[in-house]
Amino acid sequence: MQLSQRLMGINGGGSDGWDVFLKARRMIAAGTPVTELTIGEHDIRTAAPILQEMHAHAMGGHTGYAAVPGVEPLREAVAHRVQARTGVPTRADNVLITPGGQSALFSAHMAACDAGDTALYVDPYYATYPGTLRAAGAVPQAVTTRAADAFQPRATEIARHSKGARSLLINSPNNPTGVVYSRATLEGIAEVCRRDDLWLISDEVYDTQVWEGSHISPRSLPDMAGRTLVVGSLSKSHAMTGSRCGWLVGPEDMIAHLINLATNTTYGVPGFIQDAGLFALNQGPDFEAEVGAPFRRRRALAQAVLAGQNTVGLVPAQGAMYLMLDVRATGLSGEDFANSLLDTHHIAVMPGESFGSSAAGHIRVAMTVADDAFDAALRTLCAHAETLRG
Ligand code: PMP
Repeated sequence: MQLSQRLMGINGGGSDGWDVFLKARRMIAAGTPVTELTIGEHDIRTAAPILQEMHAHAMGGHTGYAAVPGVEPLREAVAHRVQARTGVPTRADNVLITPGGQSALFSAHMAACDAGDTALYVDPYYATYPGTLRAAGAVPQAVTTRAADAFQPRATEIARHSKGARSLLINSPNNPTGVVYSRATLEGIAEVCRRDDLWLISDEVYDTQVWEGSHISPRSLPDMAGRTLVVGSLSKSHAMTGSRCGWLVGPEDMIAHLINLATNTTYGVPGFIQDAGLFALNQGPDFEAEVGAPFRRRRALAQAVLAGQNTVGLVPAQGAMYLMLDVRATGLSGEDFANSLLDTHHIAVMPGESFGSSAAGHIRVAMTVADDAFDAALRTLCAHAETLRG
């Protein structure tokens, strides 16, 4: 039987850049110890009190169909949180609770784009972006950035593609670069969006993990609340990746229509998960800082290790759980470097090329193993780069 072009086209063809990751998984399965610095998943599990809350609500009977837009107290808590961060009045009706940020990304593009519309995204990008845009029927168009600009997108580069496009997807703090967009960058982005009438889809799932500078939500910029959709999630901030609890914040009329989409696709998020999500949000900023603390510590470790050499460059590591390292001095591509590091030292990192052409000659290191193993892996990585450079 023939499958739909929409389904078959999601991956867009070509290598998806995950070969090194798959090779590492095969080595591990064959019994070879590998230091895994590939995936953005905490090395801690969801905190016991959150799981106890989840259990209590499940045992208490919140196991039937839950309200599709999200339970009211959680929508209100998210609205309160987003209002506190942006200064923009936000109510429960501006919030749709979704099965993770990923579902919110898809919903946002379903709301913004018709089939065949151009949807812009910034390269380097989080792995699912182009596929999500295609799944929603849009035609993805990358906006490139430069290592020399620390991967902050230039308004002039966005403007090269923005005429006739419907939306622009940005992500700060950024996966894969760890860069936090400056106010000047965001103001430039907002100006293009207003001028060329784009929806701005702002993926802020790492907004609690900022190590330098501060996170600015573009929803707070002048005349942007009506055209900005904010994607949020408990995955990164509360180490709840497997719970699938996130949200989309946007104009009330758009959220009202997106409830139709949710009714006809996910039918919402399990009630006991939402109850635990509300409990998690109510733990406040100290708890969020605790979840982020290992990354803050390991970033400092990395800065110290990298300061002792001049072969591997560190892209300003301002937020999130990743480091983007420049290995161009070795003369290798990111992919060749990652392969040789895995083959020689059994350390797995992601090639920059997996995240788009802008990050060629770089590698992404997830700060997701224990401090001593992380420190040792980085020292080996730098020594390996120096050997390659000769
Ligand atoms: N956006 C970015 C930038 C991410 O890195 C991730 C997860 N790695 C997501 C969205 C989706 O996260 P989730 O669906 O778990 O909320």
